[in-house]
Amino acid sequence: MPLKGTETYDAVIIGAGIGGLVCGCYLAKAGLKVLIVEQHYKPGGYCTSFKRKGFTFDAAAHSIGGIKLGNVGRIFNELGVYNRLKLTKINPSDIVLYKKYKISYYSDIQKTIENFQDAFPQESKNIRSFFENIINPTPLFFANLRSWTFERLLDSYFKNNELKAIIAYPLLGNGGLPPSLLSAFIGAKIYKEFLIDGGYYPNKSMQSLPDTLVNIFKENNGDIILSGSVKKVLIENNRAIGIILEKNSQPIRANYIISNIDARTTYLNLIGKEHLPSDFLKKIVQMKYTNSMFIVYLGYAEPIEDLPSGANLWLLSDSNLNEIYNSSINGNIFKKKSFMIHIGLDRKTVIAFVMAPFISKEFWYENKIRWTNNFIELVTSYFPELRHNLVYKEAATPYTLYRYTSNFKGAAYGWASVPNQLADNDFRKPSFIKNLYLTGHWTTQGLGIPGVTYISYDLARFIMKKEKII
Ligand SMILES: Cc1cc2nc3c(=O)[nH]c(=O)nc-3n(C[C@H](O)[C@H](O)[C@H](O)COP(=O)(O)OP(=O)(O)OC[C@H]3O[C@@H](n4cnc5c(N)ncnc54)[C@H](O)[C@@H]3O)c2cc1C
Repeated sequence: MPLKGTETYDAVIIGAGIGGLVCGCYLAKAGLKVLIVEQHYKPGGYCTSFKRKGFTFDAAAHSIGGIKLGNVGRIFNELGVYNRLKLTKINPSDIVLYKKYKISYYSDIQKTIENFQDAFPQESKNIRSFFENIINPTPLFFANLRSWTFERLLDSYFKNNELKAIIAYPLLGNGGLPPSLLSAFIGAKIYKEFLIDGGYYPNKSMQSLPDTLVNIFKENNGDIILSGSVKKVLIENNRAIGIILEKNSQPIRANYIISNIDARTTYLNLIGKEHLPSDFLKKIVQMKYTNSMFIVYLGYAEPIEDLPSGANLWLLSDSNLNEIYNSSINGNIFKKKSFMIHIGLDRKTVIAFVMAPFISKEFWYENKIRWTNNFIELVTSYFPELRHNLVYKEAATPYTLYRYTSNFKGAAYGWASVPNQLADNDFRKPSFIKNLYLTGHWTTQGLGIPGVTYISYDLARFIMKKEKII
């Protein structure tokens, strides 16, 4: 879309991740004049897909959760996304493989509970009460979650360490933290939305989610600039008043500036240290962020027999999740032999994920091929059927994730969801800069598609109330 000079908007949104798009759709539907600016040539952020040699791969996010038990279904319905997406429910959506255990998450929750109970009969009652409290939390359960770690929550239900590891391992993958660090509040949310109610897949690829949101945004007179990086947020008298693009020095003015991008970049680069209180500046550089991922994309000439279409298979080799986490952040990502693979719906693609540190651009240029081959070797040693008919392989390193999305150090889930970093208002509605708002997984409020969808809905409603639209 050509730039419109010094045009003024009600709201400018920086970044067309799911967070920016959901917020933009609500505001445009409410009649506000909204511009979304995205640096990439396609929208979606971590929720994009790409085509190679006839295969379609999801770049990062590959599954939507929280449709029925969370807020995502309701929000998709309100925006008109739901009907257009044709979601497939994968059943079972997630399978954890650990020693003799094979635990599956089915669409029928009772079946999932029974699957756990059959494997751990001595914890049968605890399993039922854990699931019931996660799905319908009592006030006491809910109150404790804010200050607890997920480990403390698991300890309050279970004795068996293998059971605890089987429950928590997908959260290490889906939230980037072991249970000893992960907030119980966020852990319980992810468990409910990503696992118990996880595994929804849109149309032919994840790209159809952002593409559908863009269509709805445009139908409501929203403007979007793709391949247009924002260089600066203009501040006047402690108030955000507009943005400047990398390739055009004309300011674009707006009453609301909403950043859907990495909070460090927003504050330290786009706004500038000179506009930040010193205690906030100190805090932002010390905050813990999540690890990145090393991802391998595999394409097969024939559908892979015996692997469940659309499912996530979590291969766990060690019940000590702290050690898996520490090995990963120290760069020994294959040492603990634990990883996840996602099987494509047509069973002709497989994406393998393992947590990895950023290290440096140079490191990944030198080591990408070696790590790709090592990862394929590890994956195929557990799933020998993946050795045959392999006709395409590619990898994304933490540097790739950074390069395509500008997420700080390729962090997979924004800020780390540790209890003392949750719900910090400075990251969402800072008191020291008026008219600036943040949304997405750098707000300390939640992560993943369900988390950022809800946060963005909530921010849009806040602005609509301010504008007296609702
Ligand atoms: C490997 C991996 C697998 C995952 N799997 C899942 C999954 O299966 N299900 C799930 O729910 N979640 C998953 N997640 C997490 C989920 O994808 C993210 O939490 C979520 O998509 C973040 O959305 P967002 O809108 O906050 O930000 P982002 O997706 O990071 O979007 C930010 C956007 O801002 C743009 N941008 C950055 N800087 C600028 C600038 N200066 N100017 C203009 N634009 C800019 C970026 O290009 C990007 O498009 C996964 C994450 C990773 C890394």
